[in-house]
Amino acid sequence: MKTALTLIITLITLAWGWDVLVAGTPSGGAALWVLRQEALYLSGLLSIALMSVAMFLATRPTWLEAPLGGMDRVYRTHKWAAILACVFAALHWLIEMSSDILKAIIGREGRVPKENFGGFIEVLRDLAEDLGEWAIYALLAMLAISLWRRFPYRVWRFLHRAMPVLYLMLAFHALLLAPTGYWTQPVGVLLAVLIAGGVYGSVLALGGRIGRSRQVRGSVVALDHPAADVLAVRCRLDAGWPGHRPGQFAFVSFDDSEGQHPFTIASADHGDGEISFQIKALGDYTRQLARRLAVGQPVRIEGPYGRFDIARQQLDAQQIWIAGGIGVTPFLAWLEAQQARPADAPACRSALLHAGSRRGSFRRPPASAVRAASRYPPVRALCQAGSATRR
Ligand SMILES: Cc1cc2nc3c(=O)[nH]c(=O)nc-3n(C[C@H](O)[C@H](O)[C@H](O)COP(=O)(O)OP(=O)(O)OC[C@H]3O[C@@H](n4cnc5c(N)ncnc54)[C@H](O)[C@@H]3O)c2cc1C
Repeated sequence: MKTALTLIITLITLAWGWDVLVAGTPSGGAALWVLRQEALYLSGLLSIALMSVAMFLATRPTWLEAPLGGMDRVYRTHKWAAILACVFAALHWLIEMSSDILKAIIGREGRVPKENFGGFIEVLRDLAEDLGEWAIYALLAMLAISLWRRFPYRVWRFLHRAMPVLYLMLAFHALLLAPTGYWTQPVGVLLAVLIAGGVYGSVLALGGRIGRSRQVRGSVVALDHPAADVLAVRCRLDAGWPGHRPGQFAFVSFDDSEGQHPFTIASADHGDGEISFQIKALGDYTRQLARRLAVGQPVRIEGPYGRFDIARQQLDAQQIWIAGGIGVTPFLAWLEAQQARPADAPACRSALLHAGSRRGSFRRPPASAVRAASRYPPVRALCQAGSATRR
């Protein structure tokens, strides 16, 4: 994640620097005014570039799972690209506002002359300026509620749906207000490519088409309670499910009005289109799920995603698999898969150390993990609760 974002920031800064070297700074301006103008351009470029990356990553591009290390990391990169974009947007706004201070310190003389196109273009540029300003205010409000952990997730998710619209407003602002000289320089090419990716992501999001090609319908075939606050749901999927590797997750929707929730697939793939989930009552929706779900109910699954894959581990090393609470689910899928394919198993004796939560669920290793481990001798299921380790 850090490498990808550093690369984008470096590329944009170099392209901007190249433009300053080749095209030169605006003529006829005093040094401080020129500095302000270039800082305005650089902060704006960085903000729209990172926002474009965030928007594109929102489309869940599976081809980026390998270089970024799985869809959960793609999501993390999306999140940090968006946060950094907001920071640069705030900086851009502050630099824009600094003109009054500069006027007071060094006067209006020496201001960098504005590009003037006249006619309809000028009207559009005024509109772009206003839209950009309002979008920045909305963006900063969104950043504040995203960082405020106590803000209800459900409301946040609803508000987050406005992001593609805000992005399109910012893209319009950037396209109309970037200096015309940029479009014949590498900085312009880079900007155009990034904005094209961002617009693509926005259009897909607004049309509700993200991940649609990876969605499969099915129905609930069994429900169980492995612990008081954990619901095990087994689903049979219609044709089209590509199968999954143990450790992967899927976006699950039992109810179209609620939307999708990510859950790890807690079973191995047997090629029969059946998968199961273990869902802990952690929030508003998951607390009601046991009451709302019934056998035979339709389900929509999108995936599989993720690369928490045992095949990527060093198999000749002794391993300790550490799971906390409901985080045991990928290991349940690993254990089940190892029984079917012992050749992929770790060569040394290994242990699944389960840090059970003190509150409620899975104080002991879940029965399914103990059962799976007992049929599969290389792995022992242990439970760390408080100071005692129980088998
Ligand atoms: C890759 C991944 C795998 C997961 N696997 C499991 C699993 O196997 N079993 C399990 O019980 N839980 C799992 N979770 C957590 C599960 O998605 C949330 O507990 C659940 O969505 C909470 O929904 P809620 O409406 O009840 O909670 P809320 O009260 O709405 O939210 C509680 C917290 O859950 C998270 N959350 C809620 N909805 C989503 C969403 N759509 N996308 C991402 N995060 C969300 C947010 O951080 C939020 O702050 C997984 C999460 C991720 C990201």
